[in-house]
Amino acid sequence: MAVSAGREFLAIPGPTNMPDEVLQAMHRPALDIYSKAMVDLSESLLHDLSRLFATRGKSYIYIANGHGAWEAVISNVLSRGDKVLVLESGRFARGWGNAAQAMGCEVEVLPGDWRRAVKPAEVEERLRRDRNHDIKAILVVQVDTASSAYNDIEAIGRAIKAANHPALFMVDAVASLGCMPFEMDEWGIDVAMSGSQKGLMSPPGLGFVAVGDRAREAHQTAGLRTPYWDWTNRDGPEHYQKYAGTAPVHLLFALRKALDMLFEESLENTFIRHRLLAEAVRRAVGVWSEGQVFSFNIEDATERADTVTTVRAAEGHDLFALHRYCKEKCGLVLGVGIGELQDRAFRIAHMGHINAPMILGTLGVIEMALTALSIPHGKGGVTAAVGYLAESVPA
Ligand SMILES: *Cc1c(COP(=O)(O)O)cnc(C)c1O
Repeated sequence: MAVSAGREFLAIPGPTNMPDEVLQAMHRPALDIYSKAMVDLSESLLHDLSRLFATRGKSYIYIANGHGAWEAVISNVLSRGDKVLVLESGRFARGWGNAAQAMGCEVEVLPGDWRRAVKPAEVEERLRRDRNHDIKAILVVQVDTASSAYNDIEAIGRAIKAANHPALFMVDAVASLGCMPFEMDEWGIDVAMSGSQKGLMSPPGLGFVAVGDRAREAHQTAGLRTPYWDWTNRDGPEHYQKYAGTAPVHLLFALRKALDMLFEESLENTFIRHRLLAEAVRRAVGVWSEGQVFSFNIEDATERADTVTTVRAAEGHDLFALHRYCKEKCGLVLGVGIGELQDRAFRIAHMGHINAPMILGTLGVIEMALTALSIPHGKGGVTAAVGYLAESVPA
């Protein structure tokens, strides 16, 4: 017996659910890449990406995933032997640091914990000890998609200022841009990066980088520059240079539609929608946790992301069975635990193109699976989520 007919629903943190309008936007012939329509499309997207990052600085679009955008940032502002400080809060800042190391940078990790966000005071303390200013860049993620930690980027920016340290502040917003507030200029961020396939509801394949004045200055002398990533090359007179070759025309059609939808809803409302639906998920997880098997991976409620929730399971519970039941019986794909949390957690993504039926449906299927598999859990998680939403979204 199964109840999984129809479209499989992805509750994984990327690629995420794409709106039909975005899918349909790609169903057309490519543009003449030398036409005015092509130039206008690029200009509109680059302008709107800077608006999303909230910067007066320029943005760049790469035919790449998030890993590519990481490399773009490093390549454009750093040199072999430069020291970078990685602020750990799970897996992803370390991943960015690994790329920097492989490219010839010296990497120091400010040790964190998979169960909490980066502590700004620890950042300040480490930077104050760096009297010679050996640290050239600080790498951090806004949301760590593995742990589901939410880092207070504004507070970390203040800590860097308080330490009076000149390192470039580089922020990964892959799992948060377009879902949670991001203020590149106001928060003192020098370079920010993101990707198309998470909060931005678009197909995988585009990486974005936004560049502030201090990063632009560092770019002038950066030794790791290579032709494909290079900002100066992309700023050249020909449109063709913007992509260092052929434009990813169809991915750009999709992104244009996704951004139009985002701005039509208004960023403000998008952020509220994410917060409400995330809290609905947390209400359900809170109730399920009463069964003593599950718990929030992030212990402090104020450090939980509004885009993904990582749920830990006590030893001896078969999460593989949970995933399999959700997928095969119900057509719901849950995120798996990764890194330290492999086989020890599941993840519920709630980013991008999501609404109440999708989230309540997701929670309902999980509760159904826990019941069918006789995995102990507090009863009434979905009821708690519904109650919260009904209260928060008045008639
Ligand atoms: C997904 C993700 C990445 C990597 O993006 P890919 O497109 O998979 O290369 C980087 N950082 C964060 C925070 C992510 O969630």
